[in-house]
Amino acid sequence: MGSETIADGNDGPVAFRAGFLTGDLSDPAAVRLAGSRCKACGIALFGQRHRCENCSSADLDHVSFARTGTVYTFTIQRYAPPPPHSLPVTPWAPRPVAWIDLDDDGPRVLAPIGCTPEDISIGMAVQLDCQAGWSDAAGKDVMAYGFIPAGDTGALA
Ligand SMILES: [Zn+2]
Repeated sequence: MGSETIADGNDGPVAFRAGFLTGDLSDPAAVRLAGSRCKACGIALFGQRHRCENCSSADLDHVSFARTGTVYTFTIQRYAPPPPHSLPVTPWAPRPVAWIDLDDDGPRVLAPIGCTPEDISIGMAVQLDCQAGWSDAAGKDVMAYGFIPAGDTGALA
């Protein structure tokens, strides 16, 4: 299977990890989360896999997932994450981090949510919000993912 992310040698951004994002990384609105769906048991897995973590089958399709989902549960991240993230840490603004159930029978993924701790709730509809999270050793933007409340414009504004 060919690479779905921009390969080294291009000037554009790169994915935070191979096999987890798909689409044109220079157009955040076109980026989707990538993964695998097991043909044997049907489970969806975030990130392209060679073997199912549920039933061990090696019969997997590589797929992209819906850009929308629902907050399953959440917590508040009150401390800045360690490098390589280059988030503004002084002062650090507490933010929600949530388990998101992706629409269309996608996987449950963990992600920061672009809203205040007061504005998140279980069952809230969210949409994918990809943006450059930091730079790699070559100075390229590294695309990371998060979610924002459905209908917000987030980093795409
Ligand atoms: Zn399976």
